[in-house]
Amino acid sequence: MTNQQPIYILPESAIRTKGREAHRNNIAAAKLVAETVRTTLGPKGMDKMLVDSSGDIIITNDGVTILEEMQIEHPAAKMLVEVAKTQENEVGDGTTTAVVLAGELLKNAEDLIDKEVHPTVIVKGYRIASEIAQKVLNTMAEDINKDDTDTLEKIAITAMTGKGAEASKEKLAKMAVHAILKIIEIKEKIIIDLDNIKLEKKIGGGTEDSELVEGIILDKERVHSSMPRLIKDAKILLLDSALELKGPETDTKISITTPDQLQAFLDNEEKTIRDMVEKIVYSGANVVLCQKGIDDVAQHFLAKRGIYTLRRINDSDMTKLAKATGARIVSNLDDLSKEDLGYSGLVEAQKMGDEEWTFIRNCKNPKAVTFLVRGGTRHVVDEAERAIKDALGDIASALKQGKVVAGAGATETEVARNLRKFSTTLSGREQLAVLAFADAMEVIPRTLAENAGLDPIDILTALKQKHDEGKKWAGIDVFTGKVVDAWKMGVIEPLKIKVQAVKSATEVANMILRIDDIIASGKDARPMGMPHGMNPDMM
Ligand code: ADP
Ligand code: MG
Repeated sequence: MTNQQPIYILPESAIRTKGREAHRNNIAAAKLVAETVRTTLGPKGMDKMLVDSSGDIIITNDGVTILEEMQIEHPAAKMLVEVAKTQENEVGDGTTTAVVLAGELLKNAEDLIDKEVHPTVIVKGYRIASEIAQKVLNTMAEDINKDDTDTLEKIAITAMTGKGAEASKEKLAKMAVHAILKIIEIKEKIIIDLDNIKLEKKIGGGTEDSELVEGIILDKERVHSSMPRLIKDAKILLLDSALELKGPETDTKISITTPDQLQAFLDNEEKTIRDMVEKIVYSGANVVLCQKGIDDVAQHFLAKRGIYTLRRINDSDMTKLAKATGARIVSNLDDLSKEDLGYSGLVEAQKMGDEEWTFIRNCKNPKAVTFLVRGGTRHVVDEAERAIKDALGDIASALKQGKVVAGAGATETEVARNLRKFSTTLSGREQLAVLAFADAMEVIPRTLAENAGLDPIDILTALKQKHDEGKKWAGIDVFTGKVVDAWKMGVIEPLKIKVQAVKSATEVANMILRIDDIIASGKDARPMGMPHGMNPDMM
């Protein structure tokens, strides 16, 4: 055929980037994201201030929080945000590490692409390197169990160093370990459900005023001010039905024609409520925590009987209360027996600023506890909460897997060293990719050094030398600028942080590298006529 017509499969106006250009574009976007969070890495990392359109600010050092709050549009950049989220969900910490690593993998890949190494080869080399890296990490890890509270506290301190909770990290670390050891369940495997640690925030005081309550804190006040403020040896009833007559069943119309009839009706209603309260008294309960409403008459009788009562407690708090106090949640007062009641050594109303809260303390062997986070301002409290969450996540993850490693750049340097050794067994271009991976691992110690204002070249040289001498835990003391034994220094992290960071960083880098065509898709995925914002799966 001679007179060949061009064939259009896309509208001429379609935005499309292909080949090398597509790679460059995606890599540039991903690198920018990594660059943004990079300065926050490590104890000497800086914080970011995020300001939204209404002027609300968040001050944080936490990778995933920064990325979630930023308005990221570029698709490849969004993929990097996903890495942070995966890391957050899987471990709860190490989000900056994962993103910085992914950015560096892509940056090094770009150099290889410029040297005419095909992306497919890089992808393959990275995959091999990632597997080796994970093996090295597993081999170098040390065992840990719940009796090693000393090391567990070090894990918590490492997680919080340089974060909002810095000032009182020793105290908070002890509380975090204590909290985990209360809720841990050891069956065929170790179960740690972090939902059983309630985090309650209150502005006021300083972070050092934070406290761990062996029980539950509820931001609720007694339904009647004449109820006692303090109950020792509390027998707690958890009730998930209302203490009132206005239930749908009883809300029927009655016709009253004489004053006597009205009085009789009211007397009858009052008697029903009084009977309910008497059933509670008879069970021996002196605290009632009710999920539903409590009407005035019931409040009056409960107050007269000296029962500490709260109402409208939410579902998740009810579950936690049951776990903390050992109570069974009761729906029907006719079935109530004293075995259903839970126990707490002390229930008290406590003034918190201008509110009254309820503290259910000293539970016997509680399976749910509360971390009360204090701090001078909202920003301090929020950032302290994020730091505590990181600490809890790290302790949990260390215990679940039973493996820990030293941080401060030690593991990454050791992985890089092993990868370089391994690369000699490969030929040609794959070897280049594995070497590029090894170099990328060193972005972590390099960044730790840079953020501490140290000379990265000097430090990295010294660090590598120690590792060549067989010192696998050699890491950077960012406070003195020396290469030290990071294990002895007490910089300890769960193995899972490191493995997950390598895994997800490689996955996203490879996914981005495999893309050689970016097409603006104009197709609307919604079936015709469906309004915007509606998910077709919902139909
Ligand atoms: P991420 O979001 O990745 O957890 P962080 O800002 O928490 O980022 O920094 C974690 C890094 O800081 C890890 O590489 C960890 O080993 C390192 N690190 C933590 N504490 C210290 C310390 N005291 N000295 C040196 N490095 C530390
Ligand atoms: Mg961290």
